Parts: sequence; structure tokens; C-alpha cells
Amino acid sequence: MRKKIIVAIDGPAGAGKSTIAKIVARELGYLYIDTGAMYRAITWKAMANKIDLHDERKIVEMSKKTGIKLEQLDDKLKIFVDGKNVSEKIRSENVTKNTNTISAIQGVRKILRDKQRLLGRTGGVVMEGRDIGTAVFPDAEKKFYLDAKPKERALRRWKELKAKGKRVSLKKIAEAIRRRDYRDRHRGISPLKKAKDAIVIDSTSLTQKLVAQKILSEIYDL
Ligand code: C5P
Repeated sequence: MRKKIIVAIDGPAGAGKSTIAKIVARELGYLYIDTGAMYRAITWKAMANKIDLHDERKIVEMSKKTGIKLEQLDDKLKIFVDGKNVSEKIRSENVTKNTNTISAIQGVRKILRDKQRLLGRTGGVVMEGRDIGTAVFPDAEKKFYLDAKPKERALRRWKELKAKGKRVSLKKIAEAIRRRDYRDRHRGISPLKKAKDAIVIDSTSLTQKLVAQKILSEIYDL
């Protein structure tokens, strides 16, 4: 394909966005950008510095002075905050739970949106998150909204955790995902929603390979 475009992939937690976005980016030779990792990084830093997560002014001040770097090595994405590798730390249950308090702060969203726009300015990116097709790149050439039934999304998370040796009840995971999605869908600024021109893919009964193929065939049709 000639022109390097922007591929936006949005959707709720556990819909498989990261895995699919990585496959699609690898196939296209594009940069994969996980914007959720950026919100997690800010949350981790605020927690590590014991900043009150509801003190918006302090959180925004801190965010302005924070360096976030995403580094892709083969299939692994490394996240650095002010030079420190926090790739594992930002995936903890506590950070996950608190991230949507931080992601609802307008000043934080503005800072991260600017960073995301900078990363995608020349095209050739697959960017995944909640508001990429609606707010970050409303003019993205290709937009996808990846969804799956809540039960299936919870089951996927449960399997992921189990593979890492962590045992959490499926019910608890389902409840945590439900709460997180509710907050992401109902916040005032850039809530999670499908862009009007996004292609919806329900991955409930599809393999990751098939979902990636569907996305790629849409892109090659450009
Ligand atoms: O994608 P992930 O589950 O890592 O995202 C963590 C959180 O970051 C989401 O629940 C949401 O609150 C926030 N987020 C966001 N906008 C994005 C990406 C993530 O608000 N573009």
C-alpha cells in the first residue's frame, strides 16, 4: 500500500484491541500505539508519588512534567515513565482500577491527546484506545470499533490472568470490567463511543486471527 494512513481502533475493556492492533501493525509495518498505557502511566506515577487522585490541579501539573515513552520490541511493548520501565507496574489491579479517575480529567486528556497526535502526525500508525476515532484522530482514514459480549470479555481477562498464574474469580473480573466500561462510557469528556464512520466488529465468536484479517481486508480496500 502506498500512503501511510492512521488506523484507529476503539472499544471497551477486554475486546482484544491490543492483540489485534499489534497483529495489524506488524502486518502493515506500522507503529503500534497503546494509548491506554499512557493513561495507566500517569496513574501509576500519581500513585507512586502519593498524589491525591482527585486533586486535578496537582495531577495535571504532574502530567505536564512527565515523560512517557513507548518502545516496541518484537511483540512486546515497553512503557517508560521518566526513563523508568513501568511496563509491568502499570498493569497492576490497583492501577487498572484507578486509571479511569485520571482519564476523566480534562487537562490530562489534553496533554495525552497532544502526545498521541504528535506520534501519529506522519501516519503509519495503528492507535488503540477509547477516543481515537472520535477525538484524537476524527479524520483517521480507517476506524474500527471492536466489541465483544461482556461475558466473553471477562472470560478472556480471566484466562489471561490464569496464564500468568493469578487466580481471580470470574465474577469479580466481570464486575470490574462492567464498572470500568460504565465510567469510560459516561465521563464528560471524550467518552468511549463508536465513531459514526467506524466499522464495528463483534469478536465474541471470532478468533484473533480472523478479526485481524477482517481489519486488514478493510484497509487494503482503501
Ligand atoms: O486500554 P486500557 O484498558 O489499558 O485502558 C485503561 C484505561 O485508560 C481505560 O479504562 C480508560 O479509562 C483510559 N483510556 C482512555 N482513553 C484512551 C485509552 C484509555 O480514557 N484513548
